[in-house]
Amino acid sequence: MKKDYSKKFVPGTCVLSENNWLELQRIHKSITKSVMCLTLDCMFRNLLLSEASKIMPSAVVNTDASEVESVLTTSLIELLCDYLGNSIADVFECYGCAQQYGNQLGHECLTMDYETRVQLYADLAFFTIDFEQLIKDFFQRNIQMLNYINPIFVNKWDMFSIFDNVKKMYIASDLSRLH
Ligand SMILES: [Zn+2]
Repeated sequence: MKKDYSKKFVPGTCVLSENNWLELQRIHKSITKSVMCLTLDCMFRNLLLSEASKIMPSAVVNTDASEVESVLTTSLIELLCDYLGNSIADVFECYGCAQQYGNQLGHECLTMDYETRVQLYADLAFFTIDFEQLIKDFFQRNIQMLNYINPIFVNKWDMFSIFDNVKKMYIASDLSRLH
């Protein structure tokens, strides 16, 4: 494993054949995906619903349910995007920072575009997100709509497509893309 978490087959230094290595990579990907699935589908949803059941909504808005649902979904995506961005910054390892380079061009923390950051770090960063805190923030932001957070609505969420949108939003927030 290199410092940027990319994994490359290096013949001569590895006792596995390249096919063994590719197979391991495939298993690695499917384990990551399964654990993400468990985290999002079971842990996150259950935590959200159990927290929602403890709170009595202070005010009830009477609007079109589908409108509220889309506001809540967007809010969740925005919040996850903030958390993912912070987590990526936490797990990011800049060689330039470690070596205390004076030249900014030697700093991946400044030069690496967000799309590459997502490719290299999004999975790892995902597992460092504090979901309990995220749920608290989510409730705080949407306090007038908490009565809409029920199992029927929450179970409708396609968490993988939500997480894809989170990654897209993070990439779009890359200021260097505007230049
Ligand atoms: Zn740096």
